[in-house]
This record gives sequence, structure tokens and C-alpha cells, in this order.
Amino acid sequence: MNANIAVIGMGVMGSCLALNMANHNFKVSVYNYTPDLTDKFIKNHPHKNITAYYDIQSLINSVARPRKFFIMVTAGKAVDSVIDSLLPHLDPDDIIMDGGNSFYKDTQRRYDYVTSKGFKYFGIGVSGGEEGALNGPALMPGGNAESYKEIQPVMEAIAAKADDGKPCCTYIGEDGAGHYVKMVHNGIEYADMQLIAEAYLLLKNVGNLSNEQISQIFHEWNQGELSSFLISITADILKETDDMAEGYLVDKILDSAGQKGTGRWTSIAALEQGVNTSIMTSACNARNISSFYAKRQQFADSDLKQTLPVEIDENFVEDVRRSLYTAKIAAYTQGFELYKSASEIHNWHLDLGSVASIFRAGCIIKAKFLNNITNAYQKNPNLENLLEDDFFFHKVQENQQSLRKTIAKAVSFGVPIPAFSNAMAYIDGLCTKTVGANLIQAQRDYFGAHTYKRIDREGTFHHQWQKHY
Ligand code: NAP
Repeated sequence: MNANIAVIGMGVMGSCLALNMANHNFKVSVYNYTPDLTDKFIKNHPHKNITAYYDIQSLINSVARPRKFFIMVTAGKAVDSVIDSLLPHLDPDDIIMDGGNSFYKDTQRRYDYVTSKGFKYFGIGVSGGEEGALNGPALMPGGNAESYKEIQPVMEAIAAKADDGKPCCTYIGEDGAGHYVKMVHNGIEYADMQLIAEAYLLLKNVGNLSNEQISQIFHEWNQGELSSFLISITADILKETDDMAEGYLVDKILDSAGQKGTGRWTSIAALEQGVNTSIMTSACNARNISSFYAKRQQFADSDLKQTLPVEIDENFVEDVRRSLYTAKIAAYTQGFELYKSASEIHNWHLDLGSVASIFRAGCIIKAKFLNNITNAYQKNPNLENLLEDDFFFHKVQENQQSLRKTIAKAVSFGVPIPAFSNAMAYIDGLCTKTVGANLIQAQRDYFGAHTYKRIDREGTFHHQWQKHY
């Protein structure tokens, strides 16, 4: 068989992607470094377009030139090991793709390494989990631009399709651009999920609403401007009854969130780039504090927390909805600021409108709202900050008083809402002429002669500060 592509790694994602490719009439060779997984896959999913190989040389020989290898193995050393097993057998222009959640700096290193040997390399962000991999993921391919046309037909065929029929896949940029875009997508996902969790907490603990009522509220919100995959599954989750005991399942789930690290990577990249992604970072920190479960129970049973009374008016639920929408806008604004900064640092020429448009299907953050981001960048591809776009400017203008009221209630009541609070602080930071940095510069000059600039004349100054007290 002259296969169109080889998939290496028959774990959850690799096997689903191989099936997706085969279902789109591509001939697929599959391989796993341990034969058992390959056997299991072939036995469970026999397909006329799929052939299994058990040694790397036969796998390589089975693929039509330029050969295309899609690696879907555990991120890290396994990817380097698979690359090294392929390299000695390749011809010029053969293409290696890594679809795992690799760190973008690893992808940059691998891109340089593979390209220096005369071959082509792509780091491909794959979103949508197992279901997406099988039926249509959002794909973020970054690598050798001139070779994109070779992989484009397979990528676009297997990608999710948005409502307008367009594939959720576009060439992102050179070297690690695809994995970078996927990483920040995950950071945005952390923020989105945290904001929804905070809205839930407010409705439940401050609003005193039942799971059934909150489920109905999320269902209604999903009909409007907040319409998204995450809001829709939240409505479902809150309604789900426990199959092992009385009551709702969500109330029996341990209140301690896991994380695999891509949210943290995003925050680290943002700090390195000097970009404020406080909402995503607060989402990581909220997961961190959630994991100190026992300590939280201990403090919660103590008298440490002292709260203030809160009055709930008839606008409370609508205020929470508007708060969520405003904070979501702030979170995406930060995410897209980070993309813009990375694009300039790495010379990736990211098309931010296209990036938003490929998130419209096949991934966790798919939402109606993404069309507004695409529109904003279509109107002005050089937009520095999403809040400069008329649509987002007016939405934040219209809704921010709700966010202020909601935060005030939550703080009085003692409900932790770090993502909402950071969204407000970000908006206020952007809209405030003096943020106290004059005092910080004075302190730096006082203790370390770090110098300062003045508002009334050019130059850099140092002052001999007096000890008055
Ligand atoms: P998985 O089910 O654990 O599969 C991992 C695969 O890697 C298996 O085929 C495994 O083979 C292989 N592997 C491990 N070590 C290897 C080595 N040293 N050399 C060669 N192959 C090795 O994981 P997965 O969920 O498919 O995820 C694969 C990648 O996709 C990861 O980077 C993951 O972060 C990313 N991803 C996952 C999702 C998701 O929702 N699951 C979504 C997007 C991206 P053996 O089992 O035989 O060791």
C-alpha cells in the first residue's frame, strides 16, 4: 500500500486521528513502539484504509513521497525518541508532524534540528480531546510554510467544520507557532472554566439558588451572547443526578481541580514576554488553592473569615451574567494580546482573526463570541488590544457596572472570585492614567539608584533622596 500518511502512537488520540483520516478516504499506516496497542487497535477498529506495521522501516517504506508522519505520543522525550528513529531513513522533504501537547520551545528546537537535516517539521496543536480527534478537531499547524500544501488536504479534511462549513484549521506560522497557539488556547480555556465556576459559586452561595435553577440559568445564557460549548455542558452537568447515591453528582465531586500544565506554561510565557494574563494566571492559582483541600476545610471551620451582610436584588442573576461576559472579554483580550506579542517576538505573522475562527468548532472554547473576535481583526488586522474594537469597547462599557456590583457582593460575602476580580483590575488598569508606578519608580531610585523618567522633561534622572524620619 502507498499510504498517504503514517500515524505513530496508537494511544487514545493517535488511534482516533488515524480513524478520522481513514474515514476521510486517506490510506493510513499505523505504528506503535509496543505492538500490543497496535494489535488492540487493529482488532477493535478494522478499516479498509488502515494498515498496521510493527517495525519502523516497513512503516517508512509504506508511505508515498514526500512521506508524512504524524506523531501522537506522550509529550516530552518520547517525541525526540520517535524523531530519532525516523531521521536515518528519510528522504529530503519528508515531513514529520508532532500533534501532541508539546511545549512550544521544544517544538522550536525540534524544528531547527529536523530542518537542519534537510527534512520538514510541523508542531500541530490538536484540540478537542478524543471526541474531536475522531470526528473533527481544531488543528493549529506550525512549521515549514512551503510544505504546508503537502499536509493541507489531510489536515483540512479531518478538521472540525464551523457553521459556515470552513475547516477549523489554518497554517499558523513557522517553527513553534502552532504549539504556542494551542498552549494559549489552553490558558484561555482555564480562564473560561474558572469564570464559569465563579458564576456558579455566586449563584449557589450568594444567590442561594438550587442546582436545578442554576442549570436552567446556564441553559438560558447559552441561548444568547454567552452561547458556547462550556456553558452548554455546565447546564447539563448541574442537572445530572448521582448514579451512586441520592442528589446531584456535581455535589459529590471532590472540590479539588487537576491540571496538566499548559495553563501554567501560558502564564510563564506571559511573564517572560511582559504581557498581563492575570485572568489565566488567577485560574491556575485557583486550581492550586483548590488542591489544598484539607487545609481549606480546616480554615473554613475556624473563625478566620469575617464577612459582611449582602443584599440580593432582582438584578442579581442578570448582573452575574453580564459580569461573566465582561470578564470573558477581558480574558480573551489578554490571550490575544499575548498572541500579538509572541507574533512580534518570534516573527510568526500570526493572523489573529484566523486564529479565533479556527476555535469556532472542534475545541473546548468554541463559542459564538469568537465570531466577534474574527470580525474585530478583519476590520483592523493590527489591532493592539481587543478593547479598542467598537464591539468590545461598547460591551465592556455597557456591562462593567454589573461586574463591579457582583465583585463587591462576592467580597462582602467572602466568596472567592479571583478571575472576576482580576478581569476588573485589568480593565481598570487599562483605563487609569496613573497606576502608582510613579511611587514605585521613586522607591526603586531611593533604594537602588535605578533612575526614573519625568513627565515634564526628557532624560533619565536620579535624585538624592532625604531621610525625613
Ligand atoms: P496516551 O493514550 O497515553 O498515548 C500515548 C502514546 O504514546 C501511546 O501510544 C504510547 O505507547 C506512546 N508512547 C509513550 N512513550 C513512548 C515512547 N518513548 N516512544 C514511543 N511512543 C511512546 O495519550 P493521548 O491522550 O493519546 O495523548 C497523546 C498526545 O496528545 C499527548 O501529548 C497529549 O498531551 C496530546 N493531547 C491529548 C488530548 C486528549 O484529550 N487526550 C488532546 C489533545 C492533545 P505505549 O502505550 O505503548 O507506551
